[in-house]
Amino acid sequence: MTPYLFIFILGAAIGSFLNVCIYRIPQGLSIVSPSSRCPSCGSPIKFYDNVPILSYMLLMGKCRTCRAGFSMRYPFVEFLNAALYVAALSRFGADSPWILSVYCVFLSSLIVIFFIDLDHQIIPNGITLPGIPLAVALGSTVMPDPFLRAELLGWKASITGFLAGGGSFYLIAALGKAILRKEAMGGGDIKMMAMVGGLLGWKGVILTTFSGSLFGSVIGLSIILIKGREWGARIPFGPYLAAGALISLFWGQDILNWYLYAG
Ligand SMILES: [Zn+2]
Repeated sequence: MTPYLFIFILGAAIGSFLNVCIYRIPQGLSIVSPSSRCPSCGSPIKFYDNVPILSYMLLMGKCRTCRAGFSMRYPFVEFLNAALYVAALSRFGADSPWILSVYCVFLSSLIVIFFIDLDHQIIPNGITLPGIPLAVALGSTVMPDPFLRAELLGWKASITGFLAGGGSFYLIAALGKAILRKEAMGGGDIKMMAMVGGLLGWKGVILTTFSGSLFGSVIGLSIILIKGREWGARIPFGPYLAAGALISLFWGQDILNWYLYAG
């Protein structure tokens, strides 16, 4: 089996677990037990009907027992996670299996944050609270600098990233609260950016915030124009930040080089 096929299958299988996390974490349910059930009729999903991507296609997106339709999102999340693992292997495979694994875990947690924040406007502490110390510990010691991949990120850039990520978003939250007199930025965004900063460094915080805001303005404005949603409606920022962190991880070095030498 080629490494790419192997990591695709692994990514799809973990993607299937991410669906469980996205569905259960906001409800405060265990992500380990019980096994998956049909949300309509409650019948347990057999292991042979739980093969990532394939089962959905074979059953044409329906429960085997009650024929209720399952959301397209399930196979999509499985495919997305698999595709990101393949991209990570092609980008970081030469570094070391450990670095590749850390980035894969990071990418998977971005997917979970993306969908939970989209659905519930929360970024769960279950991910960010263990994620922050892990990101700082790994970022300070063994992880490369995503903007200068031949070198280690180092503890200075990791700690500065943690402080810049958490601190700047804390400031935005405090200012927003003072000016708008309501919660403009959730505590989840602050913790998420502290985690991103610990792993990607302070440059990662800048690029993540910049590209996240760019996505947010373009998509937010389109939603307002198309759906006529009012200004100031609470649109979650986490999904845009997750996309920005992904850009920083994969293309940070290219964007920095382009900015420094070609721009
Ligand atoms: Zn069913």
